[in-house]
Amino acid sequence: MSERHTRKYRLGKIPEMGSRPRYRGELHYGFTVGFALLIGCWSISRLDHPSWMDLWVIPLIIIYANFVEYFVHRIPLHRRIPGLGVLYERHGIQHHRYFTDRDISIISPLQMYYVLFPAVAIVFFIPLAAGPVSFLIGHLFGPNVGWLALLASAGYFAWYETFHLANHLPMSHSVHRVPGLSALCKYHRLHHHPAYSKQYNFNVTFPLADWIFGTLKKE
Ligand SMILES: [Zn+2]
Ligand SMILES: [Zn+2]
Repeated sequence: MSERHTRKYRLGKIPEMGSRPRYRGELHYGFTVGFALLIGCWSISRLDHPSWMDLWVIPLIIIYANFVEYFVHRIPLHRRIPGLGVLYERHGIQHHRYFTDRDISIISPLQMYYVLFPAVAIVFFIPLAAGPVSFLIGHLFGPNVGWLALLASAGYFAWYETFHLANHLPMSHSVHRVPGLSALCKYHRLHHHPAYSKQYNFNVTFPLADWIFGTLKKE
């Protein structure tokens, strides 16, 4: 990154955003997380007298989503895969270039552009990823279990986006007073070290898959 580019970034002016002068980070976050929460509310509205026994699917989806988060982050977001280059460009290049372990915090809501998934990602995520899996689960174990699976998937997406954004908020922000958050933020900060980003700490929410695959770096 050139010095001029870096200076513009530090001023909160993102060069690539010349074509998006009306960008608002708060609206970007509100749209992606709001869409996920809307899907969650829709799933709840479709439940028909679920039993406590149906809830088994929620922890299962959370674990499954943790592995999806791990592999998507480790492979297409950090390796240029033919046909998925846009993902690598947005995350492996732009997100990691703008935010390093020494300079991980946003200083303007404009920079949320390089923290959050593109708004269109949530529109693809639900119908192409979470939807078919939830439909299959519903077909096998009953509609209530399927709707609970969709609820858990949408909730996980909102959790990921919120948590990743929290990692990139300044340490003075009140969100960092949430118990346990600063410890998890430390892992993500290490992931942003240029020497570690392709090797360690691919989980953002909680480091289960990193722990299982031996890629959890604590120091
Ligand atoms: Zn990050
Ligand atoms: Zn990364």
